[in-house]
Amino acid sequence: MIFDPTTDKPQDECGVFGLYSTTPNDLAWLTYLGLFALQHRGQEAAGMCVSDGDKFHVDKDLGLVTQVFDERRLDGLRLPNARVSIGHVRYSTTGSNLRFNAQPLTTRTNKGILGLAHNGNFVNAREVRSGMLMEGALFQTTNDSEVMLNLIARESHMDLVEATASAMKELKGGYACVLMSRTQLLGFRDPHGVRPLVIGQRDSANGEGGAWVLASEPCALYAVGARLIRDVQPGELVWFDRDGLHSLMVEPKRPTPCSFEWIYFARSDGELDGVDIHESRLRMGAQLAREKPIEADIVVPVPDSGIGAAIGYARESGIPFDYGLYKNPYAGRTFIAPTQEARELKVKMKLSPTSAVRGRRVVLVDDSIVRGTTSRQIVNLLREAGATEVHFRVSSPPITHPCFYGIDTAARKELVASTHSVEEIRELIGADTLAFISERGLREAIGGSGLCGACFTGEYPAGTPLLNDVDKLALEV
Ligand code: SF4
Repeated sequence: MIFDPTTDKPQDECGVFGLYSTTPNDLAWLTYLGLFALQHRGQEAAGMCVSDGDKFHVDKDLGLVTQVFDERRLDGLRLPNARVSIGHVRYSTTGSNLRFNAQPLTTRTNKGILGLAHNGNFVNAREVRSGMLMEGALFQTTNDSEVMLNLIARESHMDLVEATASAMKELKGGYACVLMSRTQLLGFRDPHGVRPLVIGQRDSANGEGGAWVLASEPCALYAVGARLIRDVQPGELVWFDRDGLHSLMVEPKRPTPCSFEWIYFARSDGELDGVDIHESRLRMGAQLAREKPIEADIVVPVPDSGIGAAIGYARESGIPFDYGLYKNPYAGRTFIAPTQEARELKVKMKLSPTSAVRGRRVVLVDDSIVRGTTSRQIVNLLREAGATEVHFRVSSPPITHPCFYGIDTAARKELVASTHSVEEIRELIGADTLAFISERGLREAIGGSGLCGACFTGEYPAGTPLLNDVDKLALEV
């Protein structure tokens, strides 16, 4: 399990991106821009495929988008008359962080060469894969995306759309994928819409530059000059070709998108399933202030993920908002710290208190507590800087269960709220008071018709794997 102790957050998932150009264009550069906008969703690997209907170029590697695609490698992907491209940024929730697990995955089929980029997890991938191995299928990677690609390739009597719809019916879980052939772009979302996928359109100027775009979040549409058209619906398969956008509802079920997209994952400059991310975070903070009020002098966010909820808390409570923690903007993912001392220094490398907290009673707002280790260190930092009281407020309910749909929340035994009461966690992190938003309050703050909250409730809308715990290396046999 890869664990970055300076975040102690549910780890980001993956980001997917796809383009179907209505006029020949340099799609490598646009795909790079789209992936760069999605970098927050995965920092371990990046990759893309580009085709002009004839050539099919692929490049991928471990690292950030800017590390993988320097000018030389981007040049190698350039096709002046490209029509279709897909891209991926990866955080490994299934399979090791190895180069061969980077995406897009590609395979040769009777439908021609195909490329797939996937976000999420298939809960029955292990069983489906075992059955396919028995039938003689070959796998080159240890990630569950290859099971989907092999299922599509196996249906040799079907066209690409039919084969994809058939594979969607076989694999269960929370997922959103983009798939390309030399001439088509496809996108599809699981029956409950747990993982997000949006459709955008780039207008053509003087008959040039027009394109359909698929992305995990609207920020990637804006990055390539496209506007949001709509979300791919739960259970929907969309595809693009010379005739434009097509849609097939494969097996829609009750929509239950991941509540953590609004709590933490998604960038605040967009909306998903019609709900604005920033506005929902403000509402979570306001709800938290109503549910768990406290007398204090300032409201301080844990940057950056606690900022929206802290503003909401401050506005509702009337307590002034202030930046009590400075976040070093250059502290990204670095090393896995080997000792407790190194872990504590690593938190200090990322966060340091400002004079705003000196002599003040602080309401500290964060989006979640996973293991509690970082929360304890942040409370300590504020006390060392002179805060007289620290009241911890959390804009998600306690995380008591693991996620099986593509988010690395850690195994259940590592989740502090699965083994400790709120009072015990308070003692552990050293806060004067600790309170979480209620599950009902969270649902009201986000709105929408339904939400996945399985990591708070243990009720999994899209099923669970047979082995009932997180094991992201489950396919490594
Ligand atoms: S279990 Fe939690 S993190 Fe996973 S999809 Fe559901 S709400 Fe999101």
